[in-house]
Amino acid sequence: MAEVTCSLCGRTRDGEPPVRALAWVSEQDERGQTWLCPECAREHVRDIEGKLPADYW
Ligand SMILES: [Zn+2]
Repeated sequence: MAEVTCSLCGRTRDGEPPVRALAWVSEQDERGQTWLCPECAREHVRDIEGKLPADYW
């Protein structure tokens, strides 16, 4: 299994309790698969929800 590292804060999933490891979020972007730890995922979702979709207008 590939090492999972948060793309925002650099934390690794190794050593996380399993219940928290499940909360990690994977995303696909132009660089391939990236991961976000639970804290960064929560911030990231807030960012996404704070932006209006381009076709809203
Ligand atoms: Zn993080």
